[in-house]
Amino acid sequence: MEDCIFCKIINGEIPSYTVYEDDVVKAFLDISQNTPGHTLVVPKKHVQDIFEYDSDLAAAVFSRLPKIARAIRDSNPDIKGMNILNNNGAVAYQSVFHSHIHLIPRYSDQDDFG
Ligand code: 5GP
Ligand code: ZN
Repeated sequence: MEDCIFCKIINGEIPSYTVYEDDVVKAFLDISQNTPGHTLVVPKKHVQDIFEYDSDLAAAVFSRLPKIARAIRDSNPDIKGMNILNNNGAVAYQSVFHSHIHLIPRYSDQDDFG
């Protein structure tokens, strides 16, 4: 979709640090990390929010989360947990209107990040 920042990242028009990629999703580091390793998992198909997923796309995208979460965890022994969240709609704090799932690592020395 034109003028969608995440479509541009997926198409390689805007640089990003790729964590994982296959035919269904691209996962890349958030430009403004809540904690080190904060990653966004983004369906390659442009869907605005959870309300636009069909069940096949939801199954394909969400089934990839454990593998990506393990890869992030295994990249740093200090990662002891992870928040997974997904904002839908401006009133729910969505700011980029191409659906994405946040993977936010949590560390043994608990951080002060939100
Ligand atoms: P939301 O608030 O929609 O749930 O999350 C959007 C996220 O996208 C924010 O955490 C923000 O930092 C991130 N973001 C916005 N623009 C860019 C960008 O150009 N590149 C990357 N890697 N992340 C971005
Ligand atoms: Zn898009």
